[in-house]
Amino acid sequence: MTYIEPAPIKDKENPLESMMSRFDKAAELLGISDEMYHILKVPRKQVVVGLPVTMDNGQIKVFEGYRVIHSTILGPAKGGIRFDMAVNIDEVRALAAWMTWKCAVVDIPYGGAKGGVACNPRQMSAGEIERLMRAYTTAMLDVFGPDKDIPAPDMGTGPREMAWLMDEYSKAMGMTVHGVVTGKPLVLGGSLGRTEATGRGVTVSALSAMEKMRINPYRASAAIQGFGNVGMYAAELLHERGVTVQAISDISGGYYNARGIDIEDAMKYRADNGGILDGYQHADKITNEELLSLPVDVLVPAAKEDVITHDNAADIQAKMIVEGANGPTSASADDIINEKGIMVVPDILANAGGVTVSYFEWVQNRIGYKWNLERINRRSDRIMKDAFENVYATSQKYKVNMRLAAYIVAIDKVASTYKFRGGY
Ligand code: NAD
Repeated sequence: MTYIEPAPIKDKENPLESMMSRFDKAAELLGISDEMYHILKVPRKQVVVGLPVTMDNGQIKVFEGYRVIHSTILGPAKGGIRFDMAVNIDEVRALAAWMTWKCAVVDIPYGGAKGGVACNPRQMSAGEIERLMRAYTTAMLDVFGPDKDIPAPDMGTGPREMAWLMDEYSKAMGMTVHGVVTGKPLVLGGSLGRTEATGRGVTVSALSAMEKMRINPYRASAAIQGFGNVGMYAAELLHERGVTVQAISDISGGYYNARGIDIEDAMKYRADNGGILDGYQHADKITNEELLSLPVDVLVPAAKEDVITHDNAADIQAKMIVEGANGPTSASADDIINEKGIMVVPDILANAGGVTVSYFEWVQNRIGYKWNLERINRRSDRIMKDAFENVYATSQKYKVNMRLAAYIVAIDKVASTYKFRGGY
């Protein structure tokens, strides 16, 4: 197993290396051949584009955009588009591979992709973001397609951006193509339940893990880092299922209340306060770092990658970590967390509820029929629960932690499908 990825920086933790090191371990445990290892490791397509966009002041600014298709072995590629200053090709490559494993873990017929633009949407007007999204879509016309590569929202993007993408793509094709993108507004063929889907899947994962660890949700406590699309709905649903959510946080810091945060109240505050918790009064202010080390039953990192590292893993007191974000735990922290006996429901399983309902959206677009919320929630809960049980059984069979087990399930599925399809 000698392949070395071309770019990653070796001297600091990065999500690509973290992902690859877990992949390597699982591949070794599965005993896959060297050739299969290389087939699964190298992305199929990597596209980098320069996007000249006219800003509101009349000046043209050039943004760099990326799309990486890691695999199409199980079906068309699927993966979000991230608008963030920290976006770079390494991160996009890692996230694309993650999507391959995630779709395989929950057994939906998609390959993996990811895209992103290095930009700061918070400092851009709606018009600037729209022009950027349309420019990105045009640059990716050959890449995207309902049977080829189906984007979705990720950090910094949402239904509004997906609507612009669908519109731009449809104009270029000369017809309305709903199925080219998921996470669209409801009126444009979006699916009921998509907005809450990832947080809902995190909740199903957390409750399934509690069941295995014999923790009663009504006596359990949780701390949730990140109060955006994933963290907020995970907080709301865990709260609804009886869990005391003692701490939440966002970019403005952490908020702690031992008796439990009133999540509805916090959501309302956030909505009235420009989408941020800054100044929230019904809790004590703590730091994001303090939140991670609270003595709770469930810790949900749902903000960004690499927040649990070699440096702070020893301080974690939670009984389980349910990874809402992609790559919140760096590989160097894995051993410390294992030794402490903390159960980790890994990102590729825990946050797969989003892609599951994205898949439902695409299915509905293609059959031209809308499912009701009850059907969507029931089916996505079933998929998440089955995937959890499958990964748990694999972890018992191979006597490995849940993260390695999830990679084993995913790699085995992709590798065995590849064997049937064959190469050149
Ligand atoms: P979001 O932009 O809606 O929310 C992110 C939240 O994290 C915000 O509350 C933000 O203030 C907070 N945050 C940002 N930096 C922080 C920091 N340094 N410390 C603490 N909080 C910080 O994004 P999201 O869609 O909720 O995505 C969060 C994570 O989940 C990302 O890793 C994303 O890739 C992953 N994810 C999202 C989905 C989805 O459906 N949205 C699906 C799978 C995985």
